[in-house]
Amino acid sequence: MVRLSLFFLIFSFSVSAKVVLLDPGHGGEETGAVGKLNRSRQVHEKDLALRLAHKIKKHLEKDATVFLTRSIDRTVTLQERADMADKVKADLFISIHFNSSTDKKAHGFETYYLDNNKDAAVKKVEKQENFSLKGEDLVVHQILIDLTIQQTVKASRALANAVHGRLRGHMKPVGITDRGVKAGLFYVLALSKRPGLLLEAGFMSNEKELKSVQQEEFMERYAQGVAQGIRDHLRK
Ligand SMILES: [Zn+2]
Repeated sequence: MVRLSLFFLIFSFSVSAKVVLLDPGHGGEETGAVGKLNRSRQVHEKDLALRLAHKIKKHLEKDATVFLTRSIDRTVTLQERADMADKVKADLFISIHFNSSTDKKAHGFETYYLDNNKDAAVKKVEKQENFSLKGEDLVVHQILIDLTIQQTVKASRALANAVHGRLRGHMKPVGITDRGVKAGLFYVLALSKRPGLLLEAGFMSNEKELKSVQQEEFMERYAQGVAQGIRDHLRK
């Protein structure tokens, strides 16, 4: 009897625990955006994204089963990241990035979910994040994109609002600008075929902001905000 109820306990836990796949952008030979501190020291997006992903994992692990598409500095294609979502049966896919712009004054954080957007500024972000060294010419079939949008847009938008809402509160003391929730066509989200987000946590092309996003306080607050937003969404 004891053994039987233990079985049910484990069984009910395993069916209710949600799986979240965190995806630190870029990695290995693909640096992502490159920022410069004091006009010399280079900072790579791949390293900041990995640091932030580990922190989000730490805060989220109490409430979900959490996996990373890469836990070290290594090259992973967009398709491999999406395949991992199938392998771990992820309920949510969260891709983690830092922004870059030719406008050195651009600043702030934004949260993307998968949907079409004609905005020119968003097109530039899509171009940066859809680039993959091992699949430079990666073209994702429009039918797959449309189908995934149809199946996920409602949940993804709700998730984006939950996460961004928490971030708004958490990031206020740090003084980083809120650029809002946006739609964007990101291949990694389309290929993963499940509700998800692509986070742009701040601009590395803005030296002042680059200094701030590297701070422990920024990283902790951002990670807590994301974890809390995901938790809110999963409880609904
Ligand atoms: Zn990126």
